[in-house]
Amino acid sequence: MHIGFIGLGTMGAPMAGRLLDAGHDVTVHNRTREREEPLAVRGAARAATPRDAATGVDVLITMVSDTPDVEDVLFGNAGAAEGLGTGAIVVDMSTISPAATRAFAERLERRSVILLDAPVSGGSEGAREGTLSIMVGGDAAAHERLTPLFEVLGTTVTYVGGTGSGQVAKAMNQVIIAGTYAAVAEGVALALASGIDVEAAHRAVSGGAAGSWVLTHRARNMIRNEYPLGFRVRLHRKDLGIALQSAREAGVPLPVAAYVEQLETGLVARGHGDEDVSAIARAVREAAGLE
Ligand code: NAP
Repeated sequence: MHIGFIGLGTMGAPMAGRLLDAGHDVTVHNRTREREEPLAVRGAARAATPRDAATGVDVLITMVSDTPDVEDVLFGNAGAAEGLGTGAIVVDMSTISPAATRAFAERLERRSVILLDAPVSGGSEGAREGTLSIMVGGDAAAHERLTPLFEVLGTTVTYVGGTGSGQVAKAMNQVIIAGTYAAVAEGVALALASGIDVEAAHRAVSGGAAGSWVLTHRARNMIRNEYPLGFRVRLHRKDLGIALQSAREAGVPLPVAAYVEQLETGLVARGHGDEDVSAIARAVREAAGLE
């Protein structure tokens, strides 16, 4: 299958690499062009613009930061929409607004191009190891056709429903994650301030009912007060903004998500926006006088 891939950041680069390793014909494009080089060495073709990356492909995958960035690469100057042929499928795996996703799908439909929203969960580890959870919204037949491709990238591939449904499921994921990070940070702060062996306490609680991906993979960052990427605070804050907007439209109060979004706003203001989202522990540590 000829695949175009736009956005070679923390997630996109290892995902494009997995598609190459699976034997697909992959053309990559990244705004900062040097990031294409390691994939070119592994056999990817390079495209100078999103339009060139989309020309002649069966499937175009986008993995960029935010809603305006997806709009840029699809419909901006030398955008992918100009290159896509009739019947091509765009798979947007970025985490963006469900409402904007529906609008983008309509614009592409006018060019006889299908858009699937397929945001992911599972972090940079999941992208490298091909163990992502992929939440798919849009045309069911297109989803079915691309399932073998999704299975190169993830172990849990779920068709959620019509266009935008994948993004709503991802918003649900980010709301749950927000509360989990904040609660793990509070638990770690309690153990640290009490002077117990926090590593031993971590081992003990990981095996019980409090166990979670965040506790297993990110509590050690919080204990060491070091926050290597991972997933940037500013991107999680962006995701909570999407969730809170969708919740306002649905008339659903989300006080925990709103609280964590405020903690993250403070972290971004204090220069921690490009640290891993486990840096939420900084705010909890500061409040406890543990800094
Ligand atoms: P990242 O490392 O910050 O990379 C962002 C990528 O988007 C870069 O390739 C960047 O290009 C490109 N980009 C941003 N704005 C652009 C624009 N206007 N035009 C063209 N390219 C643009 O982000 P990431 O962690 O890979 O995340 C990508 C998406 O996946 C986000 O929506 C994020 O929320 C989601 N996600 C991330 C994780 C995670 O653990 N990291 C997990 C699940 C989902 P440059 O190189 O030129 O900056």
